[in-house]
Amino acid sequence: MSGNSILVINAGSSSLKFALFCLDTAGALNLAARGLVDGIGSRPQFKVKDAMGQALLERELEVTDVREVKDAIALAGLWLGTHFPGEALLAVGHRVVHGGADYAQPVRVDDTVLADLEKLTPLAPLHQPHNLAAIRALRETQPQLPQIACFDTAFHRSHPQLADIYALPWDYYEAGVRRYGFHGSSYEYIASVLPQVAPSIAPGRVIVAHLGSGASLCALRGGKSVDSTMGFSPLDGIPMGTRPGALDPGVLLYLVGQRGMTATALEKLLYKQSGLLGLSGVSNDMRLLLESAEPRAQLAVDYFVHYIAKEIGALAAVLGGLDALVFTAGIGENAPEIRARIVSACAWLGITLNQEANQRGDACISTTDSTASAWVVPTNEELMIARHALAQMQPGQAPQH
Ligand code: AMP
Repeated sequence: MSGNSILVINAGSSSLKFALFCLDTAGALNLAARGLVDGIGSRPQFKVKDAMGQALLERELEVTDVREVKDAIALAGLWLGTHFPGEALLAVGHRVVHGGADYAQPVRVDDTVLADLEKLTPLAPLHQPHNLAAIRALRETQPQLPQIACFDTAFHRSHPQLADIYALPWDYYEAGVRRYGFHGSSYEYIASVLPQVAPSIAPGRVIVAHLGSGASLCALRGGKSVDSTMGFSPLDGIPMGTRPGALDPGVLLYLVGQRGMTATALEKLLYKQSGLLGLSGVSNDMRLLLESAEPRAQLAVDYFVHYIAKEIGALAAVLGGLDALVFTAGIGENAPEIRARIVSACAWLGITLNQEANQRGDACISTTDSTASAWVVPTNEELMIARHALAQMQPGQAPQH
């Protein structure tokens, strides 16, 4: 293989995910390989799969070889260079969690942008520093290589003001306490493919349920985000694998004021120990909960479905009705039982499930006489980021869909 390619990087606290997309002669981006270095600084492992999901590499590494994210990038770069020797990297697209109030589009990173993004670290202390560390590492070793930051928050900057504020004194809004929304690359990807997958609903009122280990809902009108369940942080909204979703702030006041919990302990409780895991005491993995006979595992699943249905109702009110509900991400794409239960709770919105289509995981899973339809659309955040990175290298062209 030889030609031009785009590398997508998603750097976390102890892991680096990457995906290489090759540009074909028609200008489309095709996945060539997807990889993961995890256990950085502890028990590093390096795995790469091809576009069909077949393993190309699975290797355990010495901790001395991969101490930090820049080591993981060097490792990935070496492997990709060896396996795709003819590929010239046009740009690297980075998943960056926070673009703040101002970055409503992906942006090519320069010194000014990097300084701006560093200022946003207090808003996303668990993710932003790691996202930026990857950018900085690549700027050091390959200063000429264009790097494009794509933000989880950017797609939601089309929210009207009412969906962007909290009822706090106005100074807090000015200081950045706003509803930013997250999972933007996933929602943008879904919005970009709806005109092909489901042309009848694409211009309408659509709720997308991104149900993965992180989970949120987004209300789309004409393909633009008008509201979403996540707010200032990715903690808000519906329950998730290890995050509780919306919580009365009085609970936090009680935990801090009466139980003496520190900010660090609260962070651990809210990001790592709550949600499906905390409620069930069994697992954060929906597959295990669905198989479990433990009453609290079933309660956790009931709670998950109940809150999603409740929030779908709220977003349908925001949209003034509903034309379609779209399921995506790990649970949304792979768990027919959960989809069936959510759709059943949304029958009042005019959706009737087509049981067989739902079991098969067809694109359309509602009956033809439903007044609002239901869909399963696989998301592809990496491809969305790659398209943006490519578009930045081709000024004047919108990302291809
Ligand atoms: P994601 O974050 O989008 O990769 O989604 C990960 C989550 O999807 C996992 O934690 C599982 O709970 C869930 N998941 C994946 N496959 C299935 C499945 N076949 N049935 C139920 N849940 C699944």
